[in-house]
Amino acid sequence: MRYPNILNCLLVAISAVLASGSRATAQQKRTPVTDAALRKAASDGKEWLSYGRDYSETRFSPLKQIDATNVQQLGLTKVWPTDALGALEATPLVHDGILYGTVSYGIVFAFDLRTGERIWQYDPQVSYENQQKACCGVVNRGVALYQGRVYVAALDGRLSALDAKTGKVDWQVQTTPPDDWYTITGAPRVIKGKVIIGNGGAEYAVRGFVSAYDANTGKLAWRFYTVPGDPSKPFENPELEMAAKTWTGEWWKMGGGGTPWDAIAYDPEADLMYVGSGNGGPWDRNLRSPGGGDNLFLSSILAFHPDTGRLAWYYQTTPGDSWDYTATQQITLADVRINGTTRKLLMQAPKNGFFYVLDRITGKLISAEPYGSITWAKGVDMKTGRPVENEGVRYPKGTAIGVSPGPGGVHNWDPMAWDPLTGLMYIPGQISTATYAQRPDFAYKKGQWNSGVGFVTATQPSPPAVGPAVATGQPGFLTAWDPTTQKERWRVNYKTLYNGGVVATAGNLVFHGTADGKLIAYSADKGEKLWEMSLGVRNMASPITYELDGKQYIAILGGRAANMAAGLRGGAGAAGKDQSGPGPKLFIFGLGGKNSVEDALPKQ
Ligand code: CA
Repeated sequence: MRYPNILNCLLVAISAVLASGSRATAQQKRTPVTDAALRKAASDGKEWLSYGRDYSETRFSPLKQIDATNVQQLGLTKVWPTDALGALEATPLVHDGILYGTVSYGIVFAFDLRTGERIWQYDPQVSYENQQKACCGVVNRGVALYQGRVYVAALDGRLSALDAKTGKVDWQVQTTPPDDWYTITGAPRVIKGKVIIGNGGAEYAVRGFVSAYDANTGKLAWRFYTVPGDPSKPFENPELEMAAKTWTGEWWKMGGGGTPWDAIAYDPEADLMYVGSGNGGPWDRNLRSPGGGDNLFLSSILAFHPDTGRLAWYYQTTPGDSWDYTATQQITLADVRINGTTRKLLMQAPKNGFFYVLDRITGKLISAEPYGSITWAKGVDMKTGRPVENEGVRYPKGTAIGVSPGPGGVHNWDPMAWDPLTGLMYIPGQISTATYAQRPDFAYKKGQWNSGVGFVTATQPSPPAVGPAVATGQPGFLTAWDPTTQKERWRVNYKTLYNGGVVATAGNLVFHGTADGKLIAYSADKGEKLWEMSLGVRNMASPITYELDGKQYIAILGGRAANMAAGLRGGAGAAGKDQSGPGPKLFIFGLGGKNSVEDALPKQ
C-alpha cells in the first residue's frame, strides 16, 4: 500500500524530529563522574570509569551477556581509524555512551559510541624536543574522568583538565621541571577530589615523584619524591631522611630514578592509596650509590594517605636495583580467602618476576613466588621479605651474563586482570635474558641516556632458573595465577613478546590482545581458546567491556603506523602520518558483528 504524499511527508517529518530528539538526548545526557560513582564502579559493569575499571584496578567486569557459550558469535560492530602516530597503549574509558581514548603524546579523543563519530579531539601539541625525551615510545595509557572533566597528562609533563563536552582546556599545569628529561605516559587517577599523577625518566636518571592536584583548580596539593635529595638541604619529609640512610655517594647530583610511571590503586575503606615506583638511575647501583645500600624508595610499593601524601608503609621488591627492575607495574587490590581467613590483599607482578601478595593495610609480605622463569634470584626470604640474589648478578667490576629477566621484565605495562569468580590473576608476560656490563667510562650528563650500562644483549640464561619454564620458541605468555597457592592454573604461550593487556568478565572469559594484532578470548577457568580475530595491525593495547542500550561490547585500541618506529612528528627526519593497512584503530566488538575489518570500516 502506498501512503498519500501528505502522510509520507508527515512521517518523514516525525522521524526527523525523533532523530534529532534522540541525538539531543545522547548529547545532553552527560552526568558527572562522582566520587560515589567511582566507588561503586566495581559492581556496576555498564561503564568503564577509570583506568583499571575500578579503584582496585581489577579489570574485571560483572557483565556476562557475552559468555563462553556464545563468544563465537563475536564480531566487529565498529572500526574507527585514529589519526595517531606511533603505537597505542591506552585503556579507553566509557561514560554516558562516549568513549574517551588517548593516542600518542597524550592526544585525547571523545568518540560517540552510538553514532560512531568523533565528537572532539584535544592535541597537547608536544614539541619535537620533548618527544625525544621518551625512553620507550611516545605512548600514552589513558585519561581520568571526574565531575564533567577529562584529565590527561601529556608526554611533556603537562596535566590538563578538559571540559568533557567540548575538549576545551579548563586548567593546565606543568607537573615536571620542563628543562629536565621527564616524561609522562601513564593515566591519571582521581581520588577524593585530587588528580594523582607520576612520571617517567629513570633511564635519564631523573628524580622520581608522585603529585596530587586539586581536581577543580589544578593547585598542587602534595608531592612525594621517591628518592631522597641533597642531604645538606632539609629533607622534604622524615621518610626521605630515613631513605637517605640507604644511599651512599652523591646520588642526588644525578637524580636517582624511581619514577612512578604506571600503577595507582585506592582502597576507600582503608583510605590508602598505592603507587609503584621505578628502577634506579643510573641502572648500575655501583655508579649511583657506590658504597651499596638498598636505595629507598626505588622499585617499591608505596602506600599513602591520599589527603596528605604522607607515607603509610612501603615494601621494596628489589633492594639496590641494578637491572631496571621497576615495581611500577599494575597494583591490584582484592579481598581473598587464604587458609580460611579473608585477607585484604595487594597484588603485583613487577618486572623482577616475583608475584607479590601483601597485606594492603600493614604492608606485610604474605607470599612471593616466581610467575615466570627467572635467574637473578632464588626466591624471596619470608623472614626478611628480601630476594635471595644469585651469585654474579651484580656487575661492580665487569659483566653479569645471562640475567633473567632483562630490562623488559617478566611483566611490563600491559595490564593484568583479577577475576574474583575464578580467584585467578591473568598476567601477560614474557621471558627475556640480558647481559649487563658496567661502563667504566660512564659520566652522568643531564639529557642523555644515563643507565650506565654499556652492553645489554639477549643471551642464554645462566642456570639455575626458578619459576614456570619457558616454552621453546615461545617467549611470550598469558598465565592464570592463583595468589592463594602461588601456582599457575593454566598458561598460554606465544611466539610474540610484549603482547597487550587483558580483561576478565563474569561470562567466564578472558580477552587478550596480542602483539601480532589478534584479539583472543579464553575460558577464564580453563584457558581454552574459544574465539579469535586477526585485525591486521601490529601491537594491541588493552581491552575493555561495557554495556550500551542493553548490549555488551568489547573495545580495544590497536595498531602502529607502518613507518613510525619512533612516532616522532614535526622535526627534521620525522616520518609522516601513515593511515594505511596496520594504522592505529579503535575496534569495537559485539555479538553478531562483522567478521572482517574491511566490512566494519566506516563507509566513505
Ligand atoms: Ca626503566
